[in-house]
Amino acid sequence: MNNFTYSSATGTNSALKLFSESPDRNARFLAGGTNLIDLMREGIEQPESIVDITRLPLAEVRELPNGDLRVGAMVRNSHLAANALVRERYPMLSQAILMGASAQLRNMATTGGNLMQRTRCYYFYDGAAACNKRAPGSGCDAMEGFNRIHAILGASPQCIATHPSDMCVALAALDASVNITGPSGERRVAFSDFHRLPGDTPERDTNLEPGELITSIDLPAWSSGLHSTYRKVRDRASYAFALVSVAAALKVEGGIVREIRLALGGVAHKPWRASVAENFLRGKAATADNFAAAAAAELAPAIPRRHNGFKIELAKRTITLVLSELAADEGAMR
Ligand code: SF4
Repeated sequence: MNNFTYSSATGTNSALKLFSESPDRNARFLAGGTNLIDLMREGIEQPESIVDITRLPLAEVRELPNGDLRVGAMVRNSHLAANALVRERYPMLSQAILMGASAQLRNMATTGGNLMQRTRCYYFYDGAAACNKRAPGSGCDAMEGFNRIHAILGASPQCIATHPSDMCVALAALDASVNITGPSGERRVAFSDFHRLPGDTPERDTNLEPGELITSIDLPAWSSGLHSTYRKVRDRASYAFALVSVAAALKVEGGIVREIRLALGGVAHKPWRASVAENFLRGKAATADNFAAAAAAELAPAIPRRHNGFKIELAKRTITLVLSELAADEGAMR
């Protein structure tokens, strides 16, 4: 681990100021530290300065006048999963958080930090391996290496890493927004625009600019009758990242799909909003055949690597199963 300076901020303005005072603005905000400290120990992150933001007053979940729910960036994952309004209105979000990491990690990890965690590609953490994300231009050992956990959608010749978060898959399906403050003021980003596909710049995971800080996440109010769930398929029952996960919400009236939200985890560099499947299903009969056809359309552009081709069929089957179960729960399956 490299030497770095440490400072503690008491408000967002002081956090931004302390960040800007770092040499070359090579600083990192420290919240729960559940991923950043590992990355620093491995020498993957080598900041000159650490700005501790754990004392910022951003640890509240509150309802806004328009019915949205605002989640402060410092709300711990365990608190968010247990929040009564989240459990009642957005069960898929609570379920997704509880399927991520361990209880100890969830007690430390924050909402903002969850968005900022980096891929768990083995080669990213191996300093002897070629990795365009860690060292741009060095190559990608995952391409011809062991790539069982890697991406099948939206990858590039530079990087086939997947995003590791469960919570973010649910937030993608929820149409959440990310509130950000930074040197140029405040801005709001649609969740689907927050994370990036790798393209030619796999070293950039998000569209957050240097010195910008996530302050909160807004969850939009949902129409009544929209039922949701989160399904995670993994190699073992706990403390494992998703091979494929599905966050789904469905509203069926008279046997017809009226509303649907669908997002996938474990398949791409970012939480994957399954817009093709959603558009296919709106207005169609809620049948297992239609759910399977929608899943096939979504996965049509998937590109398998040597060890991860099974994810394509796994994703199709998981989507079909989850939507069929949601429709059956509503008594709407034809
Ligand atoms: Fe690095 Fe991405 Fe290749 Fe993994 S898949 S080795 S993170 S460039």
